[in-house]
Amino acid sequence: MEFVTRFAPSPTGYLHLGHAFSALTAFGAAQAAGGRFLLRIEDIDQGRTRPEFEAAIFEDLAWLGITWEEPVRRQSEHMGEYAAALQSLIERELVYRCFRTRREIAEAIASAPHGEAGERFTGGALPPAEEAERLAAGEAFAWRLSLKKARAALGPAYFALVFEDETGLVRAEPERHGDVVLARKDFAASYHLASVWDDALQGVTHVIRGEDLRDAAHLHVLLQKLLGLAQPVYRHHRLILGEDGKRLAKRDQAATLRALRESGKTPDEVRALVGLPERTPPSTSSG
Ligand code: GLU
Repeated sequence: MEFVTRFAPSPTGYLHLGHAFSALTAFGAAQAAGGRFLLRIEDIDQGRTRPEFEAAIFEDLAWLGITWEEPVRRQSEHMGEYAAALQSLIERELVYRCFRTRREIAEAIASAPHGEAGERFTGGALPPAEEAERLAAGEAFAWRLSLKKARAALGPAYFALVFEDETGLVRAEPERHGDVVLARKDFAASYHLASVWDDALQGVTHVIRGEDLRDAAHLHVLLQKLLGLAQPVYRHHRLILGEDGKRLAKRDQAATLRALRESGKTPDEVRALVGLPERTPPSTSSG
């Protein structure tokens, strides 16, 4: 089987050691499998994306010795595709309009009896008359996936949803997410929708990413099923922690690859910092 994996950063800040570990892990896996490695720019959130961060991604990854296929897919150039995927869910009534503000959602969650859905929002659609009224008034809304409708649409297949990750075969629990937002007024698609769509379109067979996204797989396999997309294998890797023992974030400037490079670190020293062995030199033809 062909092996295709990817690294999919969002250009909203400089890459740090955590990104380096993720990218090197995926790239190394592709090399070991004799497979392909893709780089995808997840720049849906145009308000937070900056061209200099994208340029820095290319520069930093190349410095680490990573190579990727061209052309690089940039999500902002494919919004129409995500909108079409959303439209198919709208037509099948698998999503509903949610007019609640963040605060209203928090209140709804707080007042909900603790049941199956835990602290996740599963409010469902408004009565049609109220919805029509709010639409007429031009109120903003988000599209949320209805777990109830998804369960009804898939029947027993919903409960049989499984995926493979590094621990083996896992039963999917989309309920962990509640009725997740798949699109907002100002975004044609959420990360979840765009990422799942692109992984399938690009033929990604192995999604390799940090264990902070372990939960996402539980939702992504449901989206794949609903949209008729191929399901990849998942591999979650450990996270790189900062000196405070917390996960690195964009604000940890000292851990950016940029800062490390400027302080004189070499790519191999960066590999060592994240617990990876030195690069094996490219094999020269031996006699
Ligand atoms: N753009 C996402 C991030 O930077 C990628 C997540 C993924 O690999 O699916 O966290």
